Amino acid sequence: MPHLLDELNVAPGSPPRLAERDPDQRLGASSKDEGLERLERLVERLGVLHNRLFAEASRAVLLVLQGMDTAGKDGTTRKVFTGVNPQGCYVHSFKEPAGAELEHDYLWRVHQVCPARGEIAIFNRSHYEDVVAVRVRRLVEQHVWQRRYEHIRGFERMLTDEGTAVVKVFLHVSKEEQRKRLEERIENPEKRWKFRAGDLEDRRLWDDFQSAYEDALRETSTDWAPWYVVPADHNWSRNLCVAEILVAALERIDPELPEPEPGIENVTIV
Ligand code: AMP
Ligand code: MG
Repeated sequence: MPHLLDELNVAPGSPPRLAERDPDQRLGASSKDEGLERLERLVERLGVLHNRLFAEASRAVLLVLQGMDTAGKDGTTRKVFTGVNPQGCYVHSFKEPAGAELEHDYLWRVHQVCPARGEIAIFNRSHYEDVVAVRVRRLVEQHVWQRRYEHIRGFERMLTDEGTAVVKVFLHVSKEEQRKRLEERIENPEKRWKFRAGDLEDRRLWDDFQSAYEDALRETSTDWAPWYVVPADHNWSRNLCVAEILVAALERIDPELPEPEPGIENVTIV
């Protein structure tokens, strides 16, 4: 579905114009039922392609998920990867750096958990916190975060050159939808564990986060590691868009199954 991907893509060098993208949009299918059906097929396809990627063991995929709290980083991971073999796929969630992480450069912890050949890694948050959260919360000075865009472009270029496809998705949720989801987290005992007071502090800084994301996406959407902005107010459409993006990335890689053992067609099992 090239048209959908074009719509979601942030063209290298151009601004994502987040304010003009409607988080409430339902893209990828004309109805929820059709969307869920399509997702089911994509989930299955993802399983097949990942099996080939794993068997081939020469290339890898890194999916970077960014977004405000409640944008659906966890939910996307849960729903899109149900058909993928956990052997060869993992999630890494980046929290505030601590301990040894603080004693190294900001990309140190990131590179360590990049996928091995044959694997898909999902980053629930990423090095983009180091140009967004640290900027908005004023944890480092401007000249420090500003020069990181260039590091990140280079880092992702290196990963790509060495065989890792880098797929970056910004889950674009509206402030109003976030309010509903935060309320749900407070009310639903099964979700309460996710709520942190810091989420409200980030919500107060909403506009600053949006403009930090606006800059980060513009500075780092490249030909080799493009950003996609996915409307995230509707879970089904969000999952569908991410699945479309991922399947397209894997189809581009087109992983090949290794040649079978010579003479396999003459083997008799006794
Ligand atoms: P959550 O993903 O909701 O579990 O929250 C993780 C928190 O860690 C978020 O508030 C992130 O902004 C924060 N975080 C992750 N990485 C960094 C970083 N490099 N610098 C500052 N804060 C970070
Ligand atoms: Mg949180």
